[in-house]
Amino acid sequence: MTATGTRVLVLNSGSSSVKYQLLDMTDTQSAGGSAAGRLAVGLVERIGEENSRLVHTPLATGGDKRETEGPIADHEAALKAVAAELSADGLGLDSPQLAAIGHRVVHGGLKFTEPTVINDAVLQEIERLVPVAPLHNPANITGIRTALALRPDLPQVAVFDTAFHTTMPEYAARYAIDVETADAHRIRRYGFHGTSHAYVSRKTAALLGKDPSEVNVIVLHLGNGASASAVAGGRCVDTSMGLTPLEGLVMGTRSGDIDPAVTFHLGRVAGMSADEIDTLLNKKSGLIGLCGDNDMREIRRRIDEGDERAALAFDIYIHRLKKYIGAYSAVLGRVDAVAFTAGVGENAAPVREAAVAGLEEMGMAVDASLNAVRSDEPRLISPEYARVAVAVVPTDEELEIAQQAYALVSA
Ligand code: ADP
Repeated sequence: MTATGTRVLVLNSGSSSVKYQLLDMTDTQSAGGSAAGRLAVGLVERIGEENSRLVHTPLATGGDKRETEGPIADHEAALKAVAAELSADGLGLDSPQLAAIGHRVVHGGLKFTEPTVINDAVLQEIERLVPVAPLHNPANITGIRTALALRPDLPQVAVFDTAFHTTMPEYAARYAIDVETADAHRIRRYGFHGTSHAYVSRKTAALLGKDPSEVNVIVLHLGNGASASAVAGGRCVDTSMGLTPLEGLVMGTRSGDIDPAVTFHLGRVAGMSADEIDTLLNKKSGLIGLCGDNDMREIRRRIDEGDERAALAFDIYIHRLKKYIGAYSAVLGRVDAVAFTAGVGENAAPVREAAVAGLEEMGMAVDASLNAVRSDEPRLISPEYARVAVAVVPTDEELEIAQQAYALVSA
């Protein structure tokens, strides 16, 4: 399949939102993968409610951000509204310059190890994975179906959050539970945020002036959802999220690692249903459960005012992070870099400082003045003497999705 256009529309469809970006791949590539080719970005939120909102920023024309409020009934209406906004800037979905639509798909199971052009069989397979990704895949599927209805002739590419982690060795991916039961229900560790871990680990190698195959990197993707990965020579060998995005680090609203017996206890002793426990661990735990806030800015502000609950939540968050840095150092044997990314990782200097504090014996340290610098560029924050490079590497999942989709359709 050879694309004639050079633009890619990236769609990230959530249960009540659609985030989108239109990128020009000739620009992004000539700019070394920077954000230079972004033509428009936006999001539709609160789909299905009375007060849905569309925010559209037409970067190509340099125009002002446009916001519209009013009911948007479903994903189809949302995508049509997005298409109308793009058309108003001369960037409509009917443009021959559009080469592909790249869809973020959360769960690709074991089958999808690469970005994949979507056809009926692919869509069916993504549907087959709904039982292991009930919160995410249905919304992704709706987004794909809607986009296919609008442009059935255009290649549409699924880029999976799990794909980068499919290189994990079996001993890292399997839970130590009965093999037959696990296999019957496809229970294993899949990992998520893979697009970000792939992008950031590659960018980190570039920052060190090396090829990805030459370096071992621990990537700490710390957003509202958070995950760590161990990347050896460009291949993921372990990651902290598991069957679902609940496992691993302490997150904004998710508990991360927990003794599974806590769930039986909540069922038997507290009388909670499976759904209630699911909601507790996914939505009411992590930082918000510990201190009532999940925004690291607010937590830091409260700590500065002497708030003890916020301080304890921060310490629990950091302790878990440190344990993963230690564990992945052992998994990798030699660590060349630790890369911080996503909302917290890119912006919260106190988190980076605390996570690496006391790890000098492991060759890791943070330079206070470098750590205080604010920038959108990848940068080192470790002192020169440190054996391990500690870096801040802004992630760009949309660019990665666009690049993967474009590479596939222009091959
Ligand atoms: P997600 O994509 O998982 O929703 P992001 O990667 O956008 O999340 O990260 C969002 C989080 O980043 C916020 O909840 C907040 O905790 C944190 N964050 C954003 N900006 C800052 C900042 N300037 N300082 C500290 N934390 C920040």
